Amino acid sequence: MEDDARPAARLTVLSGPSGVGKDSVIELIRARSPWVWLSVSVTTRKMRDYEVDGVHYFFADRPEFERMIASGQLLEWAEFAGNLYGTPRGPVEARLREGEPVLLKIDLQGARQVRAAMPEAQLVFLAPPSVEELKRRLVGRGTDDEETIRRRLAHADEELAAEREFDVTVVNDYVERAADELVSLLGSSFLTPLRAD
Ligand code: 5GP
Repeated sequence: MEDDARPAARLTVLSGPSGVGKDSVIELIRARSPWVWLSVSVTTRKMRDYEVDGVHYFFADRPEFERMIASGQLLEWAEFAGNLYGTPRGPVEARLREGEPVLLKIDLQGARQVRAAMPEAQLVFLAPPSVEELKRRLVGRGTDDEETIRRRLAHADEELAAEREFDVTVVNDYVERAADELVSLLGSSFLTPLRAD
């Protein structure tokens, strides 16, 4: 029976408004806790200077992305600020089957899809210390043009209001502290030694 075979490992979803610092928290976890398995999303967005294909995202064009949707290869997907983003299903399911916790960094629409598809997933909301601070970070980021910033600001209000749909809130006051808190939420199965593969 499927339920009996379900591993103890859980899927943890990190979401929160654009600009709240999800990427910084994830980068810190990547550097300090390399044993945490992070899902790599597919996106049609243009690659930023510092990004590496296959590490930060898999970069794809729209037709490729649409083929992945049509063939059921995505666990969830969403359109965000004019670009498509999605989570490849295969690697996530494989990790969970092996009993390893999985961390996804996705937007609110994606978090809702994961909640519907996998009710046992743990949804973590990364919150800014204040709304003003969020808007300051979003405008000051310097990676996006004006139109993109405007769309991200509009989306941020909706995302802030969604906090109550989440299981846990982590406040990103200090990125190190927020990263530690998130890692501690991932599950006690991380405390067992990992295979060297
Ligand atoms: P960015 O373009 O700044 O890297 O990401 C924009 C938004 O897309 C962020 O809120 C990010 O969390 C979200 N995102 C990244 N990957 C995925 C994904 O696979 N699925 C969904 N639904 N959202 C994603």
